[in-house]
Amino acid sequence: MPGTHAHAGATLTIDLDAIAANWRQLDGRAGEAMCAAVVKADAYGLGAARVVPALAAAGCPTFFTATIHEALAIQPLVGDADIGVFFGVNSASDAAACAAHGLLPVLNHLGQVEAWSAQARSTGTPQPAMLHVDTGMTRLGMPADEARTLAREPARLAGCPLAAVLSHLACAEEAGNPMNRDQLARFRDLRDALSPLTGAGTHWSLANSSGVFLGPDYHFGMVRPGAALYGLNPQPGTPNPMAEVIRLQGKILQVQHVDSPQTVGYGAAHVVTGPARVATVGVGYADGYLRSGSGRASARLGEFTVPVIGRVSMDLITLDISAVPEHASQPGACVDLIGGAYSADALAVDTGTIGYEILTSLGRRYRRRYVGDAAGSTAS
Ligand SMILES: *Cc1c(COP(=O)(O)O)cnc(C)c1O
Repeated sequence: MPGTHAHAGATLTIDLDAIAANWRQLDGRAGEAMCAAVVKADAYGLGAARVVPALAAAGCPTFFTATIHEALAIQPLVGDADIGVFFGVNSASDAAACAAHGLLPVLNHLGQVEAWSAQARSTGTPQPAMLHVDTGMTRLGMPADEARTLAREPARLAGCPLAAVLSHLACAEEAGNPMNRDQLARFRDLRDALSPLTGAGTHWSLANSSGVFLGPDYHFGMVRPGAALYGLNPQPGTPNPMAEVIRLQGKILQVQHVDSPQTVGYGAAHVVTGPARVATVGVGYADGYLRSGSGRASARLGEFTVPVIGRVSMDLITLDISAVPEHASQPGACVDLIGGAYSADALAVDTGTIGYEILTSLGRRYRRRYVGDAAGSTAS
């Protein structure tokens, strides 16, 4: 296959049909609520250029990015769908760019409200936007006192019809966390307070992926999943209801037979007492295979679980393959690094992080294979 040598390291397979199926599942679970798709950070590292058309074809009506730059990159791919920009407008030129391209800035504080309404005044045409109210994140989003100021002085948003009012849950992946109920109550209070600014066309939205699974109280008019679209488990600790999206496979580059005690890798951090076989695979922390997986993560060779021994290097990991029959563990053999029994969520546990960070760290050196009907072809 031409060019394959350039990707001797590893292959990342991304199933676009699984992403579309996950969107349909979440859309179904959300009942009457509209199901948007969060595609910030290059669709959580999976490639917005391929993911967004698959979601648009599935019928996704609204996309969210973090930045205007991300929004402009996907705009040619979304058809008639709306694009909300979480960071909002942070300068007059941001406002001009959103207006020129019909993006919906998410307004996070009164300064952004002012910047956007100034844009509406200068263009003389209505400029729809979204509003983000803070109910407990203390991150982006309008604090309650600012929201009440806005409710008292709706003229501040003159010319800016609200397509959505959203808030973000801090602990949605823990169904029993009392923070969820608190945030729900605060969101409902703000809904009543903000009624002078909203109308039939305003979609209220509280739920991220995990929030969809908290039940209909949390669905309002729109849900905003990201992680679950990409196969991460929205309810850690229970079986994952989402279809698997990614598979990462590396190749064995070399096998060493160890007969006497010997150290492996940087820092001589691991000692094999022998007899043992050690396989080296061409994936490392420069590819987003986190160094914290040293001595903790594992891979799959056929049905065998093979531990990562020694330190993860920039380009390489070392695996103890002593338990695997020799004929099945020669150089060139494929090793499953993510997928199947060892999901991105499982690797995250072994590297001390969350599946989100595993996905968004996935490296640029992998051969990326998009599969599924939505991919059209399986070429990389
Ligand atoms: C990232 C993000 C989401 C999506 O969250 P997931 O947990 O990935 O489903 C939704 N809303 C906001 C405001 C976000 O920043």
